[in-house]
Amino acid sequence: MPKAKVNEELCIGCGTCESLCPTVFKVEDGKSHVISDDCGDCDCQSVIDSCPVSAISME
Ligand code: SF4
Repeated sequence: MPKAKVNEELCIGCGTCESLCPTVFKVEDGKSHVISDDCGDCDCQSVIDSCPVSAISME
């Protein structure tokens, strides 16, 4: 199963990933954190593409 990863060096805490997929991403202290491995029905690629600083990857 793919697992989302956020590069905290790049993340600017804009909240886009959290608003698109609150199951997996939570912004706290100005950075997004991966809080679940369960991508569910979320379209991970669209979240990756929506990050303005390309901080999200899948592994
Ligand atoms: S969309 Fe990108 S920059 Fe914005 S909070 Fe998520 S990981 Fe950080």
